[in-house]
Amino acid sequence: MKEKGLLIVVSGCSGAGKGTVLAELFAKADRLSYSVSATTRLPRPGEIDGVNYHFVTKETFEDMIAKGEILEYTTYAGNYYGTPKSELKKTESGDSLILEIELEGATNVKRMVPDAVTIVIVPPSLEVLENRLRSRGTNTEEDIARRMKQAAVELRHITDYEYIVLNETGHADRAADEILAIIRAEQSKTARNPDLVGSLTVNN
Ligand code: 5GP
Repeated sequence: MKEKGLLIVVSGCSGAGKGTVLAELFAKADRLSYSVSATTRLPRPGEIDGVNYHFVTKETFEDMIAKGEILEYTTYAGNYYGTPKSELKKTESGDSLILEIELEGATNVKRMVPDAVTIVIVPPSLEVLENRLRSRGTNTEEDIARRMKQAAVELRHITDYEYIVLNETGHADRAADEILAIIRAEQSKTARNPDLVGSLTVNN
C-alpha cells in the first residue's frame, strides 16, 4: 500500500508529558518528521536552533507573517509561535509530519487542512497533573497555579480533537504506541488510498 504523509497535530497541556511521549514515538516510528516551529521566545538550555525551534526576532516573525510564509501562528506567554509553510514540504516524501502546537493552532490547522489528524495527550487526572508540575521543582506556586488554570481551559476543549491519548505516569511508551496505532489506522482509510482503490475498482 502506498504510504501517505499525514499531517498530525499533537497538543497537550503543560504537565501532560507531551515531550516524553513524542520522544518515545520518534524512537519507535520511522517515516515520521517533526515540524520545527518558528518562535520569538529565547532558547532554553539545551535547545538547538533549527532542531527544537527556529528562534527568530519579533521583526523576522512579523516579516514572515507579512510574506505569507506562516501557516498558522499564535501568541503564547508573550511570544509568537508559528508553523512555517515550508515545514509542510516534509510530507512530500511520504513522511508523516508531527505538529506539536497548542489548541488555537490545532483548531486553525484543522480548518485549513481538514484531513489533518488531531490528537490531544492528557494526564490521568487534575491531581496527577498538579503533582507532576510540583515534582518538576522548577515551578513557583504562582507558576503552578497559572499552568493549572491554563490546563483547565485547554481540557475544556478536549472534544475539539479527534483522538485522546492518556499518558499514565511511567508509561509514555504505551501512549506512543497508541499514537502509532492512530497513524496506522488513518493511513488505512479508503479515502487516503485512492490509487489502490482505483486500481481495484473495475466498471463493467
Ligand atoms: P514552549 O515555549 O513550552 O516550547 O511552547 C509553548 C506552547 O506553544 C506549547 O503549547 C506548544 O505546543 C506551542 N507551540 C509551539 N509551536 C507552535 C506553533 O508553531 N504554533 C502554535 N499555535 N503553537 C505552538
